[in-house]
Amino acid sequence: MRCLLSLAAVACIVGCGRAPVEKQEQAMQDLLFLHFDNLNNESEIEKFDAKRSSPAKDVVPPLGLTFSTYMWHPQGVILSNVRCAACEARHPVLVYRSEPLACTVCGSPDRDKASGKMTAPLVRGQLQRPDLEAAFGKNNVKAMFERVSAEKGDLVAAVRYVRREWVFDDRASVVINPKALETTPADSLQKPDSYFSGGFHRLDAAYVATTLFMYDGDLNQIDRDTVARYLASENGVLPEAKTWRVGPAVAVEEPIRPWNAPRLGARSF
Ligand SMILES: [Zn+2]
Repeated sequence: MRCLLSLAAVACIVGCGRAPVEKQEQAMQDLLFLHFDNLNNESEIEKFDAKRSSPAKDVVPPLGLTFSTYMWHPQGVILSNVRCAACEARHPVLVYRSEPLACTVCGSPDRDKASGKMTAPLVRGQLQRPDLEAAFGKNNVKAMFERVSAEKGDLVAAVRYVRREWVFDDRASVVINPKALETTPADSLQKPDSYFSGGFHRLDAAYVATTLFMYDGDLNQIDRDTVARYLASENGVLPEAKTWRVGPAVAVEEPIRPWNAPRLGARSF
């Protein structure tokens, strides 16, 4: 019986083989979509549950509630330190896919007077990674999905994403558009100077996170220490597989520091 099983195992190794790397990569990206969807959904559920248990559930969630949102896309690129040519605001982090990026401080893109076409001072559309590196510098351009190894063994990819941390601030207020006030009575929540002051979740911090995933038919996250050694190596060399620990892991996170850019709008990162 043991002999039969061994033969079956050998036959499978010889006959089954691995799917082409591109197919494995696609399957891995599908699972990563699910991974980040799950993280975002967990945050939503946490927020919803907290709001439901709040005594003032119709108005605001309980004080002190924080939650995270995650932004990732297989074709996404994280851009750092992009300066707007129109207003000179510096954007510490932006996520680019293929569509033009507008400046959230001055409101560009503008309409070009001569051609009538929309122009985007930050990033014009359809740029590939080499073009982005030429425009913004190699160190300021990071792919959200980058195959690191598929030569031997299982497919390993570096996965970079943006995590934003939101905190409920009961003292937060926002200017109400006067036009909105004409149709929406907000007397109970309104100060005399037309500020809505009921509190809301405001962006507290943002991080660029890097982690490594291995795909062997399932998605396996590699430990933080291995990721740190990978990041510290020149040209991103993957540490030997025997030194990894695989399982639920945390990413290496780099905080984005908006306080270095005083002209930065709150929506810019
Ligand atoms: Zn601008």
